[in-house]
Amino acid sequence: MSKDALQRTRNIGIVAHIDAGKTTSTERILYYTGMIHRMGEVDDGTTVTDWMKQERERGITITSAAVTCLWRKHQINIIDTPGHVDFTMEVERSLRVLDGAVVVFCAVGGVQPQSETVWRQADRYGIPKIVFVNKMDRVGASFANVCAQIRAKFGVTAVPLTVPDREGALFSGVVDLVDWKLLRFDEDPSGARVTREPVPAALIPECELQRKILLETVADADEAAMEAYLSADAVAPEKIREVLRRLTLGCKVVPVLAGSALKNKGLQPLLDAVVDYLPSPIDVPPVTGYTLEGELSEKRQPNPQIPFSAFAFKIQDDAFANQLTYVRIYSGTVRAQAQVLNASRSRKEKLGRIVRMYANKREELTSASAGDIVAAVGLKWTKTGDTLCDPDHPLLFEKLELPEPVVFVAIEPKLKADEGRLEDVLGRLATEDPSFLVRTDPETGQRIICGMGELHLEVIVTRILDDYKVPVHVGKPQVAYRETPSATASAEAAFDKPFAGRQQYAAVTVGVGPAGRGAGFVYEDRWVNPKVNEALRTAIRESIRDALSGGVLAGYPVTDLRAEVRGGTFDEALTTEMALRAAASTAVRDALRKADCVLMEPVMAIEITAPKDTVGDVIGDFNARGGKVIDMALQADVQLVKGTIPLGNTFGYMTQLRSLTQGRGTYTMQFLRFEPIDREKGGGKNL
Ligand code: GDP
Ligand code: MG
Repeated sequence: MSKDALQRTRNIGIVAHIDAGKTTSTERILYYTGMIHRMGEVDDGTTVTDWMKQERERGITITSAAVTCLWRKHQINIIDTPGHVDFTMEVERSLRVLDGAVVVFCAVGGVQPQSETVWRQADRYGIPKIVFVNKMDRVGASFANVCAQIRAKFGVTAVPLTVPDREGALFSGVVDLVDWKLLRFDEDPSGARVTREPVPAALIPECELQRKILLETVADADEAAMEAYLSADAVAPEKIREVLRRLTLGCKVVPVLAGSALKNKGLQPLLDAVVDYLPSPIDVPPVTGYTLEGELSEKRQPNPQIPFSAFAFKIQDDAFANQLTYVRIYSGTVRAQAQVLNASRSRKEKLGRIVRMYANKREELTSASAGDIVAAVGLKWTKTGDTLCDPDHPLLFEKLELPEPVVFVAIEPKLKADEGRLEDVLGRLATEDPSFLVRTDPETGQRIICGMGELHLEVIVTRILDDYKVPVHVGKPQVAYRETPSATASAEAAFDKPFAGRQQYAAVTVGVGPAGRGAGFVYEDRWVNPKVNEALRTAIRESIRDALSGGVLAGYPVTDLRAEVRGGTFDEALTTEMALRAAASTAVRDALRKADCVLMEPVMAIEITAPKDTVGDVIGDFNARGGKVIDMALQADVQLVKGTIPLGNTFGYMTQLRSLTQGRGTYTMQFLRFEPIDREKGGGKNL
């Protein structure tokens, strides 16, 4: 790609709370950019980006599909990301490869918890954002409220670019505050034609107030703009855009637009804003790579002339059972069929064909270069999160941070003959989705699948049944518990036996105790003895870590503990690495037995919305499940309930909530922390 083409590229994500209208907005964007010729509806299950059968059935987005579209001679690569908590991994890996984000809020619901999480995730990656306040047509819609919430919750300067002419059922167009025009979207249902009219007199006072926020922000950041503003000259629209672009790219300002995706209003100005204010690949800092040994090595500029590097962020099977590997190219140029190095797995492989994915077709490319997002067809060993690079210039990008799987179920094929196929399918699914794990229970020998939540595993099981057609039996979902010491204790253990043909000896003293919630594994080595070299110390540490993978209470992993090697006996003639490992492992387990270990369960932060008249029943049921209410708020006729609840008590909750609210209640939740089980409050029901 030339520099000019790079400048005309946008890699963006559309992120939102579930139901804010992300999929509907994406569908409109694809339509207005000419990528599809018929608009699909979420409610009919006909949208492009919700491509999997299950998504269409459930009306939610569960995998991000990358699609490319063109607007004002710019190439926009859109990653559609899911809104459900069980799939935050999908959001995370998308954010990793995006340069800018469009955050969609509902004009009635405002800043809801999932969008808050995603916003903060985006902040962590330093991603510039613009906001689309959707559903302006709904009763109770308030543009000003949502802007105020954004300012209050995130402490950012939210600058309105377009404002609604009216709110609720009468909403019919937006005022463009930069060009000072009323935009109307034609009444033919698609809204494809935009007409520009002078701002009607009745709207001028309110719009001038909003424009003042815009102009003052711009003037504060730019001297020439300030002069124009103070001398009562109009600040030129080009000047406003230029300064606003700078501020948005620096994450100092978040431009906000209003619209209604369902009513086809306000999407074209949103596309303009993507082009005008979100970064191109050369506007973002160069990416940092590491040497294969893990040291900091170099920054790679988005330059097509330098060695190739790319990050595989998504694997999907297409309709022809080809495996598509979506990659973000960070530097250099790569040709189809090139040999590349998978630096994460230290193995070379052929890239295969390169395709650009449009909504309903794909374009075969001979090469692709820095800044682009494309799919490779033919990579065999590459998994989500791997780095691909030029074999002569190896480097490694940072791994994806994986959340802990907290729910698991046992799974087995109905027919013995399907063993091999199930194994194969599970392997494929795990390659696609790094937050999904497959393991074997060491005691029962059962095959276990682990994931982020009940829904996550349900979706996986449905795919096994429907897409891969392997009939399976599935157990009841179980919560992944943890163990933790509640007191400090220490133990000394010795290994003193003949082994591998000679006598071996070592003794180690290990202390254990509680560390703070969320601390994980805190380790200290206080054995003062110069004869115990670094390699042996590492071996002791690893042996203790391994011993903690199954606790002394019920075999669950031990976490939030401090382990301390206090000393030991080292005999030059008899002490071996093996003896040290064995002694350390026994010592830590003995210490744990004396440290009053308790079980911990995953506790979730939950937010429930229910119609006002059903809230009594909803809260009664919530309390019976061991939920704790932390906050309540009324929004129009909908009650919001915020609280915490043990994950194990939420299985089947969606069905229950639906029945308590005649289908009108919803909830979202996310992992908060592991907490000791409180059986009196209904914890550990799932044990
Ligand atoms: P997502 O979960 O963020 O992808 O949201 P969807 O696009 O699936 O939309 C959720 C629901 O809200 C669907 O029933 C849509 O028809 C509806 N919806 C989307 N946009 C609007 C809008 O602008 N106005 C109204 N009234 N409803 C909308
Ligand atoms: Mg969706």
